[in-house]
This record gives sequence, structure tokens and C-alpha cells, in this order.
Amino acid sequence: MKKKRIATTSLAGCFGCHMSLLDIDERIFDLLELVEFDRSPLNDLKKFTRRCDIGLIEGGCCNEENVHVLREFRQNCDILVAVGQCAMMGGLPVMRNAIMHSDDPLRECLDEAFCTPKVLNPENQIPNDPALPLLLDKVYTCVDVVKIDYQIPGCPPSGETIWRALNALVKNEAPALEYDLIKYD
Ligand code: SF4
Repeated sequence: MKKKRIATTSLAGCFGCHMSLLDIDERIFDLLELVEFDRSPLNDLKKFTRRCDIGLIEGGCCNEENVHVLREFRQNCDILVAVGQCAMMGGLPVMRNAIMHSDDPLRECLDEAFCTPKVLNPENQIPNDPALPLLLDKVYTCVDVVKIDYQIPGCPPSGETIWRALNALVKNEAPALEYDLIKYD
């Protein structure tokens, strides 16, 4: 069977979902019999070298760079999978969407993060280096931005869950995950 080509990225995520992928332990060797990795933090490849069969997305979109990368993945991957709660629902970063007391919620969020007495920042400066990607008005989930083919819930999904999903995808099957693999209460 021809190996599937996989790309992965972390948008507004914590890399926990990538760590969970590595939790498949020695099965990583079995996985490498089935797939080869293209653009991914796992191999530090920062650009697509060719079209991929599967793209795994960790994290939602909180800045313009996240949106750009997500769109690039949609353009370059046949199947796009949102992995984990941040990609599916926004995760912890989406808590800032609840800040809406003022006319300028983003400003209120930045003031809270950088300009309160709890923060050692005597000049009350908010980082504004041109190299920093611009923040979006709020955090968006992956499905808010592009079409997503499958979603794998969990924070993070277990290594077993990701393993089962990938095994189905490389066989061109839809992942049919048992309830125990996606139940977290
Ligand atoms: Fe990290 Fe959980 Fe978000 Fe995955 S879903 S990126 S583990 S916070």
C-alpha cells in the first residue's frame, strides 16, 4: 500500500495533542510503515513539499497567522482533521471571547493580561512588535474558518484514540471511534 502523506500543525494550541500522538509509543514504527510526514513540528519541516493526504490541526485561531496556516492546510490536504478541544471548540484561549464588558473587548483582554497590578510591567506596555501576528477580534474554531472533514475530541485525545483514527484514515475509512475512546467525564 502506498504510504499516505501527513502534515500536522499547532495553531493556538499547547502541543499537548502532538505529545499525545507520540504517546502511541513503539507503534510510531508501525505508523511510519503506513505514512510519511510532510510539514510538521515533528520533523521541523515548515513548508509543504507536496500535496498531502491528511492534515492534522491542533488548536484554534486566535491570530492572523493561525488563519493563514489553517487555510494553507485546507489548500494542501485532501482530508483535514481537527484534533482536540482547542481545534474543535477553541479550548482555553476561547475564554477571552467571554470578555465583552467594554466597547473594545480585545483592548480589555490585553489590559487584563498586561496592565494589571498582578503583572510586573511598570510602563504598562502591551507588546506591539511588528513581528507579532495580529490578534483576531476573538478566538475562532477551525470550522469557523475552513471546512473540516473529521474532528477528534479530547484534551488531548488519547494516543490510542489518535492511533485508531489514523489507522482508519490511511485505509480511506471514516474513523469510527468507540464511545469509551471519546468519553471524558
Ligand atoms: Fe493542548 Fe488540550 Fe488544546 Fe490539545 S486540546 S492543544 S492538549 S489544550
